Amino acid sequence: MDSNFNSKPLLRLTCSVQNYDWGRPGRDSLVARLYGLNSGGEVELDRCYAEFWMGTHKSGPSFVVKSGLENGNENGDESGSLKSWILKNPNVLGDKVLLNWGCHLPFLFKVLSVAKPLSIQAHPDKELAQALHKLMPHVYKDDNHKPEMALAITEFEALCSFISLQGIKSVVQNVPEIVELVDRGAASQVLHINEQDGEENFKYVMHSVFTQLMTATKERTAKAISNLKIRLHEESKVRSLTEKEQLVLRLEKQYPGDIGVLSAFFFNYVKLKPGEALYLGANEPHAYISGECVECMASSDNVIRAGLTPKDRDIQVLCSMLTYKLGSPEILKGFPLSPYITRYLPPFDEFEVDCCILPRGASAIFPAVSGPSIFLVTIGKGTMHTTSQIDAVTEGNVLFAPANTQISITASSELQLYRAGVNSRFLQTV
Ligand SMILES: [Zn+2]
Repeated sequence: MDSNFNSKPLLRLTCSVQNYDWGRPGRDSLVARLYGLNSGGEVELDRCYAEFWMGTHKSGPSFVVKSGLENGNENGDESGSLKSWILKNPNVLGDKVLLNWGCHLPFLFKVLSVAKPLSIQAHPDKELAQALHKLMPHVYKDDNHKPEMALAITEFEALCSFISLQGIKSVVQNVPEIVELVDRGAASQVLHINEQDGEENFKYVMHSVFTQLMTATKERTAKAISNLKIRLHEESKVRSLTEKEQLVLRLEKQYPGDIGVLSAFFFNYVKLKPGEALYLGANEPHAYISGECVECMASSDNVIRAGLTPKDRDIQVLCSMLTYKLGSPEILKGFPLSPYITRYLPPFDEFEVDCCILPRGASAIFPAVSGPSIFLVTIGKGTMHTTSQIDAVTEGNVLFAPANTQISITASSELQLYRAGVNSRFLQTV
């Protein structure tokens, strides 16, 4: 155990950034701003800043700031990482977390700044993740599942899971360019299936139509998309296009000729307002489209892509893994934990997220919980207290709090911060 641990439970972290090409440019990216403030790293105005990672994942580890040292990772030295700190001080995770996940932080916390759509993707369940990792360890680097939740900071758009059966039927009736790419038998099965036919039958029919669509040749896809553009252009002269049609045209501009443009018709188009959250279980298709959010997930980076991407795709795996559940996703609005704290509790053991918005001079308490937490300050200034430590905090600060630590926060200007922790329903079950 580190000698400082008992007297100073809160650890300041410097965190990693990912410059994926769908990120927002440095001048206009919350990720870039937080990264610059957090680590003093230089922000290039024209470079894309997509994701800010807080946690122990090897693709973007966080480092413990030691007093007197700017940064623990100057030479890529792993010894200053949060992961190695946890290995030396495993009880910071709490008994229940250690028992269930071993010496690992079970969640990965992120901020995303999305300028253009991420690929249409799904994340495997634990069993499939283990099989894929064994088969292709350099592609599927983790053997873990990756349920995730996006909590909107700005208005945030996403595509996720399949629309209702009625909606799918209406797509097959009204989007001839999709029918062009699937065989007539499959299209007619969709039109004739009904609620009484049972989930297995839906799944079979949806799997068959979706796989045919996603595996259409490049040439046929390009032709169908071109037909779609001509048709919508003509129809826009006599009626206003639906939101979905407008979205599809937007996607086409960003990913011309990509099958993901057409498959968007099958997915729910979700627009989150700030403070609303969307969660995604294993094997649910989704694509984030634009906006900024905090995101939390089980610690994993396994992605199976099928469209809207220049990256490698694994369409067969994606089509065969999906649940093909139909209908609108649940949108979480959070519930008040105390006057200034809103909690978002997805149905996954690994994580929950709290949002705390404090007016100047106000205080809030995060009660001690039996798992670790990571705090991120996104707006303003204040102080964070434990029984033995007072830290001034400001925008861009990230702090790790061990299990069983009560934290009080006081705002010296309007203060906004987020906390990620292990799901409290999981921690409370005996
Ligand atoms: Zn995802």
